[in-house]
Amino acid sequence: MATIAEREAAVFLHLANRQPVTLVRGQGCRVWDDQGNSYLDFVAGIAALSLGHCHPKVTEAIKTQAEQLVHVSNFFYTKPQIELAELLVQQTGLQKVFFCNSGAEAVEGSLKLARKWGREKKNGAHEIITMDGAFHGRTMGALAVTSNPRYREPFQPLVPGIMSAPYNNIEALRAAMTDRTCAIILEPIQGEGGVNIPDPEYLPAVRKLCDEANVVLIIDEVQTGAGRTGNLFAYQHYPNLKPDILALAKGLGSGVPVGAFVAAEKVAIFEPGDHGSTFGGQPLTTAAALAVMRTLVAENIPAQAAKRGEYLTSKLRSLEDRHPSITSVRGQGLLLAIEFGSETAAQVMNATRERGLLINNLRPNLLRIAPPLIISEAEIDEAVRILDEAIGAVERSQEASSKGAPPAR
Ligand SMILES: *Cc1c(COP(=O)(O)O)cnc(C)c1O
Repeated sequence: MATIAEREAAVFLHLANRQPVTLVRGQGCRVWDDQGNSYLDFVAGIAALSLGHCHPKVTEAIKTQAEQLVHVSNFFYTKPQIELAELLVQQTGLQKVFFCNSGAEAVEGSLKLARKWGREKKNGAHEIITMDGAFHGRTMGALAVTSNPRYREPFQPLVPGIMSAPYNNIEALRAAMTDRTCAIILEPIQGEGGVNIPDPEYLPAVRKLCDEANVVLIIDEVQTGAGRTGNLFAYQHYPNLKPDILALAKGLGSGVPVGAFVAAEKVAIFEPGDHGSTFGGQPLTTAAALAVMRTLVAENIPAQAAKRGEYLTSKLRSLEDRHPSITSVRGQGLLLAIEFGSETAAQVMNATRERGLLINNLRPNLLRIAPPLIISEAEIDEAVRILDEAIGAVERSQEASSKGAPPAR
């Protein structure tokens, strides 16, 4: 009989390098495979499971809504989307919401809104500046503002009018701006780009630059939003700083596919026909996201994520002290990364999986650590113990193979 890997290979476009486990159940910060093994889940659906697997409040909201009304389209009013939009407006300090189904769509809509704004309000300005190292998604527009050549090159030509500037460099950004610039798009912490954290002065300086030059600031919080960095939104770490457009997805639905962008009144110039989505804002996904957002706010989960993030970071720093292969531990809240001096991240990932911890290698030398925000200290201790063993095992095998290797010529 064919294995699931063989069946997958027969019918799937080969895009994901999957870890060799078939997951069948999840609860909280843990998942189980079809052999009955359990794992701590520090992948969390790519930083999407803000409240972990099958959170009772979210499960209840999905069940209740699934029995009432799943989908009708935006030709009609439905209540969950209005309540979710009201909550987002209240929590962001922005004014107008659009719902979609993914991060890439949230970015697409944000870019379209900024382009229309430039056309109507800034003399036809249409250039958008993105950052080196940025990741904004895989659709053509989102890809055009994504920097990785591996993702871009097979699909060129991409959307024109996109410039790029080095991240965390305000002078370079100033130099890249022209009269034709309508928007700047950036992540407050670059997630897929390697958990890159800018200097504390950077984002406020970008905001100031945008204000002075009359440029729309799009902050992509698809990964950093919904409590991940220890505030409900990462821009809220900066006093008095707000984006003009905020893109959200991932943690917003704690695993349910829902995205959104939220715009300030002054840029919210879309009119009927400018944009839309068949499924975006439907009752099922917005009821789930409403349960997620209400729980995040009511239980002050972002503050808890900040605390657990500090605890986890201190434990990872002690690993860094003990393991010479670790060259850096960085991150904020519960969006963290471990960097290695050589390309051993996949080996470490495999070694932790064998010991009951799921993580993912963002790059050959980098692991992302992004557990659900409801992680407990005991679960953190368990994960760090596994990481410690796994990294030790990989270091020993590296050492053994370097001793056994033929001398360098
Ligand atoms: C994941 C991600 C996206 C794309 O989201 P999808 O739901 O995969 O389309 C966009 N921006 C950022 C910052 C992301 O991390």
